[in-house]
Amino acid sequence: MDVFSRAARRTILSLAAHPGVRRWVGRHGMRLGAARFVAGETLDQCVEVLRRLNAAGLVTNTTLLGEGVKDAVAAAAIGETYLGVLDRIAAEGLRTNLAVKLTHLGLDAGEDVACSNVARLVARAAELGNFIRIDMEESARVDATLRIYRRLRSDGFDNVGTVLQSYLYRSEEDLRSLLPLRPNLRIVKGAYLEPPEVAYPGKADVDRNFIRLAEIMLTDGGYTAVATHDERIIVHVMEFTQRKGIGRDRFEFQMLYGVRPGTQLDLVRQGYRVLVATPYGADWYPYLMRRLAERPANVLFVVRNLFRR
Ligand SMILES: Cc1cc2nc3c(=O)[nH]c(=O)nc-3n(C[C@H](O)[C@H](O)[C@H](O)COP(=O)(O)OP(=O)(O)OC[C@H]3O[C@@H](n4cnc5c(N)ncnc54)[C@H](O)[C@@H]3O)c2cc1C
Repeated sequence: MDVFSRAARRTILSLAAHPGVRRWVGRHGMRLGAARFVAGETLDQCVEVLRRLNAAGLVTNTTLLGEGVKDAVAAAAIGETYLGVLDRIAAEGLRTNLAVKLTHLGLDAGEDVACSNVARLVARAAELGNFIRIDMEESARVDATLRIYRRLRSDGFDNVGTVLQSYLYRSEEDLRSLLPLRPNLRIVKGAYLEPPEVAYPGKADVDRNFIRLAEIMLTDGGYTAVATHDERIIVHVMEFTQRKGIGRDRFEFQMLYGVRPGTQLDLVRQGYRVLVATPYGADWYPYLMRRLAERPANVLFVVRNLFRR
């Protein structure tokens, strides 16, 4: 990442924490372009989008946006809502799984709270033939997230996966320690503001480590979700898997709703499995801010909408 975009990213993520900015964007954000990245505020709106993406040959996941729930009762209610989402996905016959955040399911109220909430979802998903991905949040959450993932696997659930972030120095070691489980892992670069003590500050190192983690996973892991819009990495993975004879049933590409839709369809046409992460919900603010920080040019997109009548 060049110096300018690193500074822009830090500025956007720091500004995002300001209550005044949050209030203002919260009031105007949907009109300003949040709808490009968020498939509506309700499940009904999201289901329409999921149907459309599935019809175009894309598989999907969905997420009820939210994070940082501190109260166990509120977290259990989120879990309950997600059980309904799983049932709705089954009833609609959608090719959609769930991606959840542990802080949304009560990690800050206690590891056991989050674990029992996510375990209920994984159990229901298993009954329905569906799958739960546990997203990775800030570096301080990695240990708890991996402990919960391991607990679910040792309880016999195979329909659960998690995420490793290539910006963290620790991720290769985490990956190697997970390999005996033949894990289903999504590899991402990482979306949070992390200090240089734990994360590579330079984009070239993050990209190199992404390729390294993806190659280890593709060679020795269970199932790999290559989650990036970076064409250089996508092409590398296509060539690597062809050269090593790694079947297309062992991995998929994943991208975000609203980002590079043309590339998503292109990959489907070439016979790759592509999952579009398609979140919904009224609590879209932190998600939108991370999308703007990833690509400061998106701020221009928002500003243009501000002046459009
Ligand atoms: C399916 C999926 C799940 C994810 N889950 C997690 C997670 O659990 N934890 C986590 O920390 N992070 C997660 N992320 C976010 C990830 O860490 C990156 O922040 C994000 O994907 C941008 O990095 P990139 O790999 O696309 O590469 P970059 O080098 O950032 O981008 C490559 C190119 O893609 C395009 N692009 C990238 N982002 C955007 C954007 N927001 N808007 C418009 N164009 C863009 C641009 O053209 C850019 O030049 C996820 C990403 C995806 C795709």
